[in-house]
Amino acid sequence: MEKLQNYIGGKLCAPVKGEYLDNYEPARGEVYSLIPRSGAEDVTAAVKAAEAAFPAWSALSNAERSKHLMALSNRIAERLDELAMAESRDNGKPFKLAQSVDIPRARDNFAFFATAILHQEDEFHNMGGKGFNYTLRQPLGSVACISPWNLPLYLFSWKIAPALASGNCVIAKPSEVTPYTAYLLSQICIEVGFPAGVLNIVHGLGAEAGQAMVENDTIKAISFTGGTATGARIASIAAPKFKKMSLELGGKNPNIIFDDCDFERAVKISTRAAFANQGQICLCGSRIFVQRGIYDRFKEAFVERVKGLKVGAPEEESSRMGAVVSEAHMEKILSYIQLAQEEGGQILHGGKRVEMPAPYDKGYFLEPTVIEGLSFDCRTNQEEIFGPVVTLTPFDTEEEVLMMANSTEYGLACTIFTQDLNRAHRVARDIHSGIVWINDWLVRDLRTPFGGMKNSGVGREGGFEALKFFTEAKNVCFNY
Ligand code: NAD
Repeated sequence: MEKLQNYIGGKLCAPVKGEYLDNYEPARGEVYSLIPRSGAEDVTAAVKAAEAAFPAWSALSNAERSKHLMALSNRIAERLDELAMAESRDNGKPFKLAQSVDIPRARDNFAFFATAILHQEDEFHNMGGKGFNYTLRQPLGSVACISPWNLPLYLFSWKIAPALASGNCVIAKPSEVTPYTAYLLSQICIEVGFPAGVLNIVHGLGAEAGQAMVENDTIKAISFTGGTATGARIASIAAPKFKKMSLELGGKNPNIIFDDCDFERAVKISTRAAFANQGQICLCGSRIFVQRGIYDRFKEAFVERVKGLKVGAPEEESSRMGAVVSEAHMEKILSYIQLAQEEGGQILHGGKRVEMPAPYDKGYFLEPTVIEGLSFDCRTNQEEIFGPVVTLTPFDTEEEVLMMANSTEYGLACTIFTQDLNRAHRVARDIHSGIVWINDWLVRDLRTPFGGMKNSGVGREGGFEALKFFTEAKNVCFNY
């Protein structure tokens, strides 16, 4: 069986202790490769390589660093279909989705930050002709990037690219649940002659390799995307060490549909927002609030559309949904569906595991599930399920829906459907979330700040926010 390897100091290598973990193919429910079970000793080796590479990498001009990052982007573009196939196999998502969203976005992440640094301007503050200040933004040194399983290469590269672009060396850990495309990225680094030690990829468990990165005293910053509980654990270790932290955490996003919306558009986009990537996107609209006047009509049209979502083999062109990422995650989602019923919810569609023919009969396939009849403050409507489960809740007034939408501990994203311009902007102002879409969902402009309020995170990624995070601002004052 194929054994993945760490990538340290420009070379692929086995973990120091020689131990490996099983890597499952979710659509078949079978182990198909092994990944290094790295520990603190592997992280130490990666940090040593990063520190050795830092003086030369940070001394390069932005234009030179840009060329190295563009080489990664171009090679990802050349190997796009192969990477998409690997992502689909490793994660369970439809190949079409990986091919049209995940891998193109990984390519664009590198290209975006490679070119962003060519246009960077430094800050200058004139003190009325008597003196001036300028601000140097200097790289931090060795930084850690830790990413989740839902959008594997997409989110991995979203962190690595700005960290490298701003002159840091990186120790990165992909999720142990979906390590494969990060492994392919290490091959790509070797293929394009990426400078050794600048990017190091260490595989393994969060509580072992991940935690060793957070505890390491040489690592200056942690950029983390994952669950809120993990974020809290990381913060409790990194904060007393005064490391910089960017935490992108969970969500329970409201999708608010007013009765004056473009109805067909609201139904279509809400379906995608609820079930794209099997509902495993932190931005998925998992709580749909519908104004009472159109509630029944929306419910009927929405359920009809959801019935048309084909759950199938990830590689099949017609599959709109594939498998969820693991057996444990499937069980967690099913337990929430059970809880929803105990809390008084009625299942309008779905609710069960999908029986698939061989070779997918052991795969983790779930029906897209629509539930109504729950109170806004029950556990099903407050806790992140992170699967193909959505609830429908009627509302009467703008005030009421804001209260319900803002009632969770999370504050990541929100979608609003209305034709009333004033109302759209008023709700956008009053909603507690870091990202708001009006009449659309998941439209991304890589220049914009990305992140959550409340327990959805601390800090922002994206554009210059990310480049600022990965640098230390040093003000230099000159007085005549
Ligand atoms: P997770 O928190 O279990 O794991 C995320 C990463 O952290 C993995 O690489 C894991 O190995 C590592 N990790 C776990 N424990 C660690 C520790 N003690 N120290 C250091 N690293 C550790 O999350 P997951 O299950 O992989 O991903 C799903 C979660 O991610 C959901 O809550 C989802 O909302 C969230 N998410 C958020 C965003 C966002 O941008 N806000 C994007 C995608 C996913």
